[in-house]
Amino acid sequence: MDKIVIIGGGASGLVSSIISKNKNNKVILLERNKDCGKKLLMTGNGRCNYFNSNQDISNYHSNNPLLIKEFINTKNIYKVLTFFDQLGITPKIKDNLYYPFSKQAVTIKNALVEEVKRSGVIIKNSFLVEDIKKENNKFIVKSSNEEIICDKVIISTGSKSYPKTGSDGNGYKILEKLDHKINKVYPNLMGLKTKFTYKDWVGVRSEVKLSLYEDNKLKKCEYGEAQFTKYGISGICTFNLSGYVVEGLDNNKREVIKINFIPFLDYIEINEYKEWLLNKTKKLNLSISKVLERIINYKLVNVIIKESNIDGDKLFSELTREEQNKLIENLISFNLDIIDTNSFDEAQTCSGGVSLEEINLNTMESKIVNNLYITGELLDIVGDCGGYNLTIAWLSGILAGRSVNND
Ligand SMILES: Cc1cc2nc3c(=O)[nH]c(=O)nc-3n(C[C@H](O)[C@H](O)[C@H](O)COP(=O)(O)OP(=O)(O)OC[C@H]3O[C@@H](n4cnc5c(N)ncnc54)[C@H](O)[C@@H]3O)c2cc1C
Repeated sequence: MDKIVIIGGGASGLVSSIISKNKNNKVILLERNKDCGKKLLMTGNGRCNYFNSNQDISNYHSNNPLLIKEFINTKNIYKVLTFFDQLGITPKIKDNLYYPFSKQAVTIKNALVEEVKRSGVIIKNSFLVEDIKKENNKFIVKSSNEEIICDKVIISTGSKSYPKTGSDGNGYKILEKLDHKINKVYPNLMGLKTKFTYKDWVGVRSEVKLSLYEDNKLKKCEYGEAQFTKYGISGICTFNLSGYVVEGLDNNKREVIKINFIPFLDYIEINEYKEWLLNKTKKLNLSISKVLERIINYKLVNVIIKESNIDGDKLFSELTREEQNKLIENLISFNLDIIDTNSFDEAQTCSGGVSLEEINLNTMESKIVNNLYITGELLDIVGDCGGYNLTIAWLSGILAGRSVNND
């Protein structure tokens, strides 16, 4: 009878536990916390955005981009949807984002933990794995006071993001000792700290277009809701640029985000904005501040007017040409110099990790150590905001579970 140990009762470990178990094996799930799925409860603001119907591989990133399609492909994605269907989860789908119909992350967490228990997997909570050794084709999994000997191990200990949930990066160290190469790990999906901050706009959320420039070259654009904070800028569209920024800053590149506060006019030529503002102020017979306040948050207008150094009580036509140009620049291309990012403590995920080259992407088995499997955020593949990171966790858990189950 095969004895299988799964280390980490988070998203990927719970799924691989369920799939691993059959009548002829013994499966033990080790979780350092008193309960499994602590991070899961925080996902999607407590609602768990567990999948996205747009599975274009451009939403996934890795230091081995060519290998992504071996993992994220139609056949595999179907396995994830089938798993959730069989778990009895009914989705509530909005703008491609899947949530449980209850809109509660606890629905997903409870369903997974209940299914782990029902399938006969032994859960050992408060078990912190400190080391794994392989001797005579057997693994010895050690905590400070206990050893478990087994045939196969699935490591699902997560990355370094939100370490208070239990994923503090210890899994990378265990894998390094087992001769795995860990590509540099960066925090990902977090807010960005700006050189100048504006207390006037703290707390404002607004639909914008963000354009990231690295050393003056356009790197990526994102549309969506930005959140303006004490330290700089946050929100989903910022998160999706943060991975590029953190690596760029680490490589001494200059990272600048330009904000377009009126993205709905993105299709017009730069020289047409003047005419648009002239027409608006003339038609409404209102000062430039009042005109802008009818379009965007008044707190943003205050910042834009102040930064443009103009008198907001004037009509647009009363401004000098330089003032008009400055105002338009700040309205459609407001410059934010990024000096730092939030840390691992606030990042939703991490980039980098175990190189995909060292993993059989059909089974998640290590190519370095036989019968060792690696899942979830430990792997060097990261997704954008929108259910992609949990998809990586579910899918790698399913593939590892199937493989140890000899399915
Ligand atoms: C605030 C927040 C919101 C998020 N929202 C979303 C979202 O809506 N959609 C989405 O797709 N993704 C979201 N994510 C990302 C997603 O939660 C993770 O990508 C996913 O949980 C990773 O799964 P995992 O199995 O690799 O690791 P985790 O879920 O982190 O699980 C790892 C587990 O291993 C345990 N562990 C660690 N080391 C040991 C050890 N040595 N011994 C025993 N146990 C150990 C930990 O305690 C933990 O329970 C969010 C993340 C955060 C922080």
